[in-house]
Amino acid sequence: MKHRAFIGLGSNITDPSAQVLRAMLAIDRLPQTRVLARSSLYRSAPIGYLEQPDFINAVIEVETTLAPHDLLQALLELEQEQGRTREFVNAPRTLDLDVLLYDELQHHEHGLTVPHPQMHRRAFVLQPLLEIAPDCIIPGVGPAQQALQQCGGQQLQRII
Ligand code: ADP
Ligand code: MG
Repeated sequence: MKHRAFIGLGSNITDPSAQVLRAMLAIDRLPQTRVLARSSLYRSAPIGYLEQPDFINAVIEVETTLAPHDLLQALLELEQEQGRTREFVNAPRTLDLDVLLYDELQHHEHGLTVPHPQMHRRAFVLQPLLEIAPDCIIPGVGPAQQALQQCGGQQLQRII
């Protein structure tokens, strides 16, 4: 069974743009998974812990036959391969990969929540998402376009 998922990518240390592009290629090489669309890269100011470099963010759409947990597990392994450490919440990171959406699934349990619980509050997720899926509806939330309008004041710059 083929599924559609959207994955959010972010990095703010060790050549962030290269980290994000490298991760897109690695995701395309995952078993039973291929990238259907990718957004531009965006630069965003850090949220939460402010004393760190700007982030590079992007969103991709994939087709996969991996189950949600298996997809997340594969993404967490790619984070590790690209040097991800977890020192504290909102710490700088070489690579963050989040499962944003998986079909119309609404799922909540320890270790995996879909839709990603913060996505509708983050311009750095919504703007790249809308670039590749302008009519996107976030299950349980509503149109991504409306969610973005509520994110006033978050600085985001399309770079490439
Ligand atoms: P954050 O992305 O919030 O900065 P992490 O990348 O360290 O934080 O993620 C912490 C944990 O969040 C992961 O180990 C993962 O199990 C869990 N998680 C729950 N739902 C999701 C999701 N939809 N996408 C990615 N991680 C998720
Ligand atoms: Mg994450």
